[in-house]
Amino acid sequence: MDVPLYLEPRLESRLASLLRARTFLHTLTGGLGSPLNVVLPDRMAENLAAFRAVYRRHHLSGGIFFAHKANRSSALVRRLAATEAAVDVASLGELQHALGCGFVPDRIMATGPKNPEFLWLAARSGTTVNIDSPVELDELAALVRDYTLPRIRVLLRLSGFCTPGVRLLIRQSRFGTAEAELDGLLKSVERHRDAVELTGVGYHLDTTSPAEKAVALEGCVKALDTCRARGFAPRAVDIGGGFGTDYLADGAQWQRYTTELTNAALGTRPPMTWRRHSYGLRNENGTLRGALALYPAHRPTAGAQYLDALLSLPAPSMGRPLATLLLENLYELHTEPGRALVDQCGVTLARVLEVRRTEPTDRAEATGRTGAADGEPAFPGSRAGPVPLLVRLDANADDIGLEEHGVLVDPVLVPRAAPGDAPDAGPVACYLAGNLCLEADMITRRAVHLPGAPRPGDLLAFANTAGYCMDFSADEAQQQPVARKVAVWQDAPADAPGREDAPWQWCLDEQYWPHVNRRTKGSA
Ligand SMILES: *Cc1c(COP(=O)(O)O)cnc(C)c1O
Repeated sequence: MDVPLYLEPRLESRLASLLRARTFLHTLTGGLGSPLNVVLPDRMAENLAAFRAVYRRHHLSGGIFFAHKANRSSALVRRLAATEAAVDVASLGELQHALGCGFVPDRIMATGPKNPEFLWLAARSGTTVNIDSPVELDELAALVRDYTLPRIRVLLRLSGFCTPGVRLLIRQSRFGTAEAELDGLLKSVERHRDAVELTGVGYHLDTTSPAEKAVALEGCVKALDTCRARGFAPRAVDIGGGFGTDYLADGAQWQRYTTELTNAALGTRPPMTWRRHSYGLRNENGTLRGALALYPAHRPTAGAQYLDALLSLPAPSMGRPLATLLLENLYELHTEPGRALVDQCGVTLARVLEVRRTEPTDRAEATGRTGAADGEPAFPGSRAGPVPLLVRLDANADDIGLEEHGVLVDPVLVPRAAPGDAPDAGPVACYLAGNLCLEADMITRRAVHLPGAPRPGDLLAFANTAGYCMDFSADEAQQQPVARKVAVWQDAPADAPGREDAPWQWCLDEQYWPHVNRRTKGSA
């Protein structure tokens, strides 16, 4: 292998400390099996505080709603219930869960398209409803009248924003009501005045582009002005989620890796992936086509910092910073961070079952040495490395959703033997395969570089999986068990010397309640 193409995970102090607790992690997986999901509820409270600090810096008020869909954990939601945060639920089950974890309806917002059961419980409990379509508004109003419920607070989700003079393609969404149809929607709100109270408008854009979000945010401020001109008194702009997470420790590694992936697609270096998977790139007669279908794993401006940067951007047509625009009107800002609020809040552990050499044909695929034979160029100046290892884990691709979500990041090796007990043979490349009898069950389709070879019984720790990559798609294919989930915490006070390496405590996720064993005092 030439220089190892590492993509080392960004590990902040708590997560780094947890991954150093080798014996603790092996005891947990020894007792609870592989795969195992580990969540760190206290870190979530810290992430919330970072978001709130950005609000304060811009003198803004409003709710921070955790987008529950990012993780099913009870511990995370219960820990959040002990803070000032609110929660965004997108299904009947999530609403029931939030209520059961201690969120009162005032601190819950129901978003996304809703079925009648979900809408009913939202209306009955007095949860704020983020209206996805005019039909949904009619259905909600009918429920309120039929059951003589108190008026329900509603926000209107808008989409399809355009700003005159701003040349920017805003992506289409199948959710929300087109901004151009606001007038018709407000007529419905007028008709349903006895049943609903309009408190705001919003959007959620599945994009990393701040420029697109700036157009949408300004569009919402204008929409609020329209609402007020029509005699309503809404005050909130809900800018949804999508603040993102930085998964990688080193931006230079990401640059180098993606450059090499491009070179591999062009055939100017040996392939780096299983069966020449190319992550969306292709070589058409020497020209690179397609686009890298990957999450931008290195995002120096993510989470609360992304919110800060967005609020500081000038409004596309009005010119003043977006935060100023909100402040001048005394509007509130609601945010719905999912991935960003669970940054550094979870790890997925998987046990190594078997380590073997790949077959010569796989070697050829991995190194490209058969290239000349099937018409591919040879690779002058690029020597083939050693054969990548095939590492079989006791977990499958649905248990570790990083690859599925396009997040490329290396796992951390947590050896079973104490350091120094095993000879260290130096860096290796390996393919990580899952526990299903399915060719496609690869935990990564790229050769992962590790600083040392894993051995059976070692653990691979996939860091930062709490956002969508832990339990979003986990199932019981082939009757393999779904990962158990545990919550972990340290009892040492935040300012205690050496706190980072204070002993770790744990309980099953469903057993976690913030006050038990003084897990938390006060709120964030
Ligand atoms: C998924 C979703 C979010 C959270 O998105 P992240 O990218 O995880 O921050 C927020 N709001 C709505 C309506 C969503 O569908």
